[in-house]
Amino acid sequence: MIGRYSPDLNKLFCQLAKTCPIQMVVDVAPPQGSLLRATAIYKKSEHVAEVVRRCPHHERTPDTDGLAPAAHLIRVEGNLRATYKEDDSTSRHSVVVPYEAPQLGAGFTTVLYNYMCNSSCMGGMNRRPILTIITLETQDGQMLGRRSFEVRVCACPGRDRKTEESNFRKDQETKTPSKNPSTTKRSIVKESSSSASRPEGSKKAKMSVSSDEEIFSLQVRGRERFEMLKKINDSLELSDVVPPSDVDKYRQKLVSKNKKERDGQTPEPKRGKKLMVKDEKSDSD
Ligand SMILES: [Zn+2]
Repeated sequence: MIGRYSPDLNKLFCQLAKTCPIQMVVDVAPPQGSLLRATAIYKKSEHVAEVVRRCPHHERTPDTDGLAPAAHLIRVEGNLRATYKEDDSTSRHSVVVPYEAPQLGAGFTTVLYNYMCNSSCMGGMNRRPILTIITLETQDGQMLGRRSFEVRVCACPGRDRKTEESNFRKDQETKTPSKNPSTTKRSIVKESSSSASRPEGSKKAKMSVSSDEEIFSLQVRGRERFEMLKKINDSLELSDVVPPSDVDKYRQKLVSKNKKERDGQTPEPKRGKKLMVKDEKSDSD
C-alpha cells in the first residue's frame, strides 16, 4: 500500500519516499500556464513559522533524483517539468508543476508526490505534524484555489491510520453534536466538491481516494451523446439494484415488447432524426 488517505481526519498516511498520488479537481479550467504548487508547513501555531525541511541525516543521504534539492521534503515523482522553489522572503520550500487538463473522461489530474523524511525524523519534523498545502496559481502568481491536508510519514501508514481514526471516533462520541468537528470537516469537503460558487474562487484541488462509491462527473458534448451515455449509466445503476432473479423477467417483457413492435407498423422516427431512404435523398439533391 503506497499511501492511505483518511477523509475523516483529512490526513494522508504514507511511507518515506513512496508514491502518493493526489487527485486535482477543478470546476473550471484554469488559464493556460497555470501551476500547481505543494508546500509543507507545520500544523501547530507554535511551529508554523519554522520552515519544514528534511532532517540532517536524510539531507546528507545521496538519494537525489537530479531535480530536487536535498533539503526539500516534498518531491514530485516522474515529472521533468517539476521545479523546486525557495521563497525569497519566507524561505519556504515548494515544488511546482504545470497544471495539466484531465485526460478525456477523467474528472481530475493526478500528481505523484513523495515525502522524503519520516514525521519522526530527529532534527527534522521531529514528530511535529505537518500540512501539505496545494495551491493552483496563474503564471503570475495569482491564487485560484487552495486545499490542504495533514500528512504523517511513517513505517506503518495503514496501522497508524486505523489507530488514529478509532481514537478520533471515540473522541467524537464524547462530544456534543453541535461541537462536532467531524461534521464540520465533512461539510467543507462536500461543499468543495459540489458547489461552483465558493467565495474563494471556483477552482480547487481535492484529495480523493479511488473507490467504487466515488462519484465522478463527465462533460459530454451534444445532447444526443449525453442521452446515450446517460442511458448506459442508468442501466448500470439499475443493474446494481435489480436482483438477478428479476433480470430474466425484465428480459422476457422486453422480448415481447419488441415482438409487438415488429408485428405492428414500422415505428415512426423520433422527432429531429430523419430516417434516411435512398429515393428521398436523391429527390432532395
Ligand atoms: Zn529524515
